[in-house]
Amino acid sequence: MQDFTTMLKELGHRLIATIQAVLVSVALFAGEPVPTQVVPLSVMPSVECPAHLSIGIAYDLDNPASYLYPEWSNQYVHQYRDVVFPDSLVIMMKEACMPTDSTRITDKYGYRPRRARVHYGLDIKVLTGDTIRAAFDGKVRISRYERRGYGHYLVIRHPNGLETLYAHLSKKIVKENQIVRAGEPIGLGGNTGRSTGSHLHFETRILGKPINPAFMFNFPDQCAETDVYVYRKSDDKEVYYKVKSGDTLTRIAARNETTVSSICKLNGISRNAVLRVGQTLRVN
Ligand SMILES: [Zn+2]
Repeated sequence: MQDFTTMLKELGHRLIATIQAVLVSVALFAGEPVPTQVVPLSVMPSVECPAHLSIGIAYDLDNPASYLYPEWSNQYVHQYRDVVFPDSLVIMMKEACMPTDSTRITDKYGYRPRRARVHYGLDIKVLTGDTIRAAFDGKVRISRYERRGYGHYLVIRHPNGLETLYAHLSKKIVKENQIVRAGEPIGLGGNTGRSTGSHLHFETRILGKPINPAFMFNFPDQCAETDVYVYRKSDDKEVYYKVKSGDTLTRIAARNETTVSSICKLNGISRNAVLRVGQTLRVN
């Protein structure tokens, strides 16, 4: 009896793996351009699956990606601590819509030496009043105003596990806990918060961890950068640095293209911490 159950389970897993493989191949080889304005089909076709074999990744817009996120909160952009990252996450870009039809990137993702800070999103030139659209189907988690930061901003959680953030809007036209479809207008471009000149600051995050939106969205060409974006935990390498004589946190941060506050957070130390030569610090 035990053997039979094990065999059934094994068969079930193989079936799910096959369905996933077929979905990925279809996406890879369909070859048609990604629509930029319209709503494409929904994520996972519902597959009748015995409860004990369910991998829990149902397309549930009421509780998007509840298999990944420990909670639903309208409070904080990135409040996840002690979360378990999935080994991999597949983002099907056929389900995506470009958030704006603007093709002009004004600031890239990543470390900015001039300001010694990390830019966790892409800046795209938009005019005040330009339509901003939801990147995927999802549910609005945050709709807030932050005077010194994001200005009027929205965070949407998507069933695929991604969260997208849209900042510096002049107007938000969706409310918290509202379900939106890919391509649906969610706000208007603007210049609110810490912003000089109207633009859209666009972030893509998984469990709060920022991912370069350019891996998925190609704004200059107005298309998906890839048919299927695969996030892999193994690609996120931890990086360590051995303190040398004369090092300061500022110098270590600059040398490793990161910030003092990021190093402090990673190592649980304060900005005034005394460094010892030979001490190992995590820098990424
Ligand atoms: Zn920005």
